[in-house]
Amino acid sequence: MHIEKNLDVINACRFCFMCRHLDPVGNVTFREADTPRGRALICDRIRMDAANLSNADFIDTLYRGALSAANRFHCVSSYDETGLVLAARRDIVEASLAPVAVTALAKTLEKATFSVKGKGRVLYFGPTPELYKGCATLAGGDPGKALAVLGFEAASKKVFARFKKAVAASGCKTLVVAEPSAFEFLRGNVPGVKVVHCAEYLMDQGMKKTGARKAVYLESDFLKNYCGNPSAPRDLLAQAGYALIAFGTNTEESYAVGEGALVYDTLYPELAERLCQRVYTLAEGLAKTRFITASQTVKDTLKKYNPAFDVVTLEEAVSLSQA
Ligand code: SF4
Repeated sequence: MHIEKNLDVINACRFCFMCRHLDPVGNVTFREADTPRGRALICDRIRMDAANLSNADFIDTLYRGALSAANRFHCVSSYDETGLVLAARRDIVEASLAPVAVTALAKTLEKATFSVKGKGRVLYFGPTPELYKGCATLAGGDPGKALAVLGFEAASKKVFARFKKAVAASGCKTLVVAEPSAFEFLRGNVPGVKVVHCAEYLMDQGMKKTGARKAVYLESDFLKNYCGNPSAPRDLLAQAGYALIAFGTNTEESYAVGEGALVYDTLYPELAERLCQRVYTLAEGLAKTRFITASQTVKDTLKKYNPAFDVVTLEEAVSLSQA
């Protein structure tokens, strides 16, 4: 089983409660199972007896985790509890035990296709092509990350192969990626192509100076907790005239409403709404403050449960500031 490659994590996390406050789902359900310790204890039970892999409550708990990786980023010993959950999901899928909704979603994700429009050494992959004048654009679905996160490794590889073929056919040398999950998945993995996040690329294009506007930048799970917390998104927003203010009860917790799990709102809308309600509640008293997220998925989820919530993507924030 894949979880057996993470025995150090099981042994460390199953009796540790140090990062319980950093689990977004645990913070809204108050269930001990929805904490790194709870999930490590479940994996320990599966390790002791593989028959426990078919326990429906265990499976549901392993899929309802938000995978923010805030606990891994802030763990003093960097124990990879996120990696443990991903390994457990692969074990579940390989034993044909994935929940019906997960399997149905995987079948949809497997159909992703990709197409390139235009020519150029720079290829843009994201929802805001109008910001990238002179660049070719790549359209299509998730490049394989969502399938990998759900535990469907073989299907993920097939989709990624189609993605790489489209990129190679474009002849580009640089791939600019907007969605943080896709950036984390692609960086260093596309042969002969430099993968950069859109914040880094837009920084290099220069910005017109504008008056300061107060804003909250909701840190991205993938950029912060998976990619080493680059300063580019915050630097870009400062360059575009935004004065960023602190948000929430601490700087370690994730307020990215399930970004790390990619398809969280599709599989667990009730929990996604509760994650959003936590953000809306913490945002009370911050009237006229614009919220900015690097992820289109995070924006869509926050808008879904409160259409009046003022949240835009990083690219939209830049575009609005330059209008
Ligand atoms: S990730 Fe670190 S802090 Fe969290 S439960 Fe595991 S060992 Fe403890």
